[in-house]
Amino acid sequence: MSVEPPLLQVSGLRKEYRTGKQSVVAVDGVSFCLRQGEVVCLLGPSGCGKSSLLLTVAGLQPADGGQVLFCGEPLSQPHPQVGVVFQEPCLLPWRTVWANVALGLQLSHQSLPKAAVAERVRRALSLVGLEPFSHHYPHQLSGGMAQRVALARALVRQPLLLLMDEPFAALDAPTRQHLRCLLLQIVRQLGTTVLLVTHDIDEALFLGDRVLLMTACPGRIEAEWQVPAPHPRQYRDPRMLHLHATILDRLAEHTALNGKEVIDWDI
Ligand code: ADP
Ligand code: MG
Repeated sequence: MSVEPPLLQVSGLRKEYRTGKQSVVAVDGVSFCLRQGEVVCLLGPSGCGKSSLLLTVAGLQPADGGQVLFCGEPLSQPHPQVGVVFQEPCLLPWRTVWANVALGLQLSHQSLPKAAVAERVRRALSLVGLEPFSHHYPHQLSGGMAQRVALARALVRQPLLLLMDEPFAALDAPTRQHLRCLLLQIVRQLGTTVLLVTHDIDEALFLGDRVLLMTACPGRIEAEWQVPAPHPRQYRDPRMLHLHATILDRLAEHTALNGKEVIDWDI
């Protein structure tokens, strides 16, 4: 029986920032794997190193130790089949929705014929439900729509892996929940593997097949859980409530001032 290798394998990753004589070890000794088709949430309090880890895994900044293997190959710079979505949509204001999404391809798939680009952009916009808004400009969009454009800009590359850094944190609660559902629907349809960073336990438990808990100083993976309930998940499911409490307790151990008082937990 052949065992499928992981899509992403991170081993002993270290990221250190040096500013003059100061140095911050943001991430150290981080190892984990993502199997094809999994949604894994990386959960942790502000400042524990989640973004540093994600940017390094994406090849957007160099590692100071360890290794990232994507499809068995070392990854140290942005890869055309790895899409990245940030908290802010970062759209170019002078380009239409269509042209912003096309940018995702123009940078990495320069040899793709125009007709293929057009078809991919149409499909990506259709996945996020924004085809009718193709000719709009960013200032004509709501925050949720702008973030859907950012998602389409990542999906247009037909990524095997989607890396998302708190992608819904800047949105209002109903829009946030709508986009979480949309994301689940899309990744199930496409079979995309997702690593999603969040500081929100509810979000991690709603989206993740697995949850990795990250703690600070330096950022490291402290614990890992398989989420026990199938989709669609109910927050009141006793298994979810139990896991929620377990995660809170674990976090409290690392952030407690007095007993179980949680600090720096911006939910
Ligand atoms: P999180 O995303 O979990 O909030 P970050 O990865 O942004 O955490 O930050 C982890 C630590 O690294 C923090 O102490 C932060 O101040 C530091 N840090 C992040 N980016 C830089 C940078 N470019 N230069 C120096 N220090 C940084
Ligand atoms: Mg961050």
